[in-house]
Amino acid sequence: MSKVIVFATPVFLLLIALEFAWSRRANARVPGARAYRLNDAINSISLGILSQVSGVLTKVLSIGIYTAVFGAVALYPDLEFWKTWYGVVLALVFYDFCYYWLHRAGHVVALFWAAHVVHHQSQHYNLSTALRQTSSGHLFGWIFYIPMAIAGVPPLIFGIVALIDLLYQFWVHTEQVGKLGWFDRVFCSPSNHRVHHAVNDPYIDKNYGGILVLWDRLFGTFTEEQEPCVYGTRGPLNSWDPLWANADVYWGLVKDSWATRRWADKLRVWFKPPGWQPADLAAAHPKPAFTLDQVHTYDPPLTRGQQWFAGLQFVLALGAVAGYLWVADSLSFADAAAGCVALSAAMWALGRFMQHRLGALEVLVMEAAALATLGAMGLLPYYLVTKPLAMALAIIFVAARAYSPGASGLFGITPTALLIGALVFSLVGDVFLMLPGNYFIPGLASFLVAHLFYIALFRQGQAWFPSRTALVYVLAFGAVMYATLWGSLGDPVLKGAVAAYVCVISLMAAQAIGRATAQSDAAARWVAVGACVFMLSDSLIAVNKFLTPVPLASFWILLTYYAAQLLIVHNVQSPQRH
Ligand SMILES: [Zn+2]
Ligand SMILES: [Zn+2]
Repeated sequence: MSKVIVFATPVFLLLIALEFAWSRRANARVPGARAYRLNDAINSISLGILSQVSGVLTKVLSIGIYTAVFGAVALYPDLEFWKTWYGVVLALVFYDFCYYWLHRAGHVVALFWAAHVVHHQSQHYNLSTALRQTSSGHLFGWIFYIPMAIAGVPPLIFGIVALIDLLYQFWVHTEQVGKLGWFDRVFCSPSNHRVHHAVNDPYIDKNYGGILVLWDRLFGTFTEEQEPCVYGTRGPLNSWDPLWANADVYWGLVKDSWATRRWADKLRVWFKPPGWQPADLAAAHPKPAFTLDQVHTYDPPLTRGQQWFAGLQFVLALGAVAGYLWVADSLSFADAAAGCVALSAAMWALGRFMQHRLGALEVLVMEAAALATLGAMGLLPYYLVTKPLAMALAIIFVAARAYSPGASGLFGITPTALLIGALVFSLVGDVFLMLPGNYFIPGLASFLVAHLFYIALFRQGQAWFPSRTALVYVLAFGAVMYATLWGSLGDPVLKGAVAAYVCVISLMAAQAIGRATAQSDAAARWVAVGACVFMLSDSLIAVNKFLTPVPLASFWILLTYYAAQLLIVHNVQSPQRH
């Protein structure tokens, strides 16, 4: 199934290129500059990628439930009938009918809107918008197709018509095709689907149909295109972060549900229409009525070099995703999940780069870290290259940042040197731990020195251990950890080395937490989180090596290790940066 998408992708991209070229003609219906923006198109396609990649995992849920219901209660499961052309057409119309109600629920029930919103966040309307799909649709979407399972549409036929319905909707996402007469009143078409994507008052909650727009005419939700469409959502995303795009509305619902006082309202926020507020929240934070002139285009400017970098990264990511989807069906669930995390991290980094929250070198560090993690799991080759590469790139990033003219919040040459020292010894430790043969003690010693550098770094401009409570708790955690390991450590050299190590990393975490309490800014807090994640990573190594094998040990150890290093590196030098 995933392979179908790999075959379809070049066709999608070719059609996107053609639409772009077409939009650049002098007399285009909507000219090039308004039809496409690089950052918007990358963001939309990234969300399509995430949807496909996470779909490898979540499809198991929806298809599993469908198949189970089909197996238990199918009324007319005659495969011979459903395989005929009229059987397939009937299944397709049935699917399109269910889709209409799923889509309608996606716009009028906040919980379903939280999943569907991703498709609507783009402020452009072009073929790349069509690929912009949610990653959480499989959570509840299956509910609406249960009638098909009960009727007896076999899972295979269901999968085929679902794909046809989805692929049909690709071409309607364009401004280059005008009105099509009778077609606009029977089928979903560019004109009536533009209306669906618009935030203009007369267009809200209209034209839900997937293939047939007849459903809308039947159930009173049809409107023709009249005034020019303004695209997007009424609560704009204002971000290129593809993970946040998926989480944004869910998070808003969690916050509202938490903040409102009445228990009934805590539940109601999830099922009321999007934007609904309980009385107490509406009184405290009233939302102003929506008007079209409050819409502004989110477009953080990119230099030509940054555009090239983003474009190139995007092409590489596409290649990686195609490779992943090609083998996805033969991977174990755990390996598929690891691949999904690695690709999500890469897409996230690219989005953050386009909104100037990550540097180009940081993006490369994250990609090398993702490759190294999959390499350590034996899923990708060149582990012996990618693992040292991640830390080497981090060192180059820190050095380059120290010398970049616009570096804000930098606190001098000493902290930079200390940070580079920590990273160099981490790199040495990485190399010792990945070599064949037993270099555990030299590896441990290297990381011990790295942590000493980190302690000195976190001491800059701070007292020793500003939070005594944190010191006590972290040391207690270290002591418990050590006591747990004690029986399994065996020889005294190892016992001594591990004792020293536990001591140093606990002090490192305690100093980072103390620094965060004293500075009380977000960056310092993230550094403290990084230090704690570092402790977690090392605890995993110890438990896995000395106590009991941890399932997917390499994955968890490297995931936490790189998260820790990146959190510290990104946040430590710039306390002023938001
Ligand atoms: Zn919609
Ligand atoms: Zn659409």
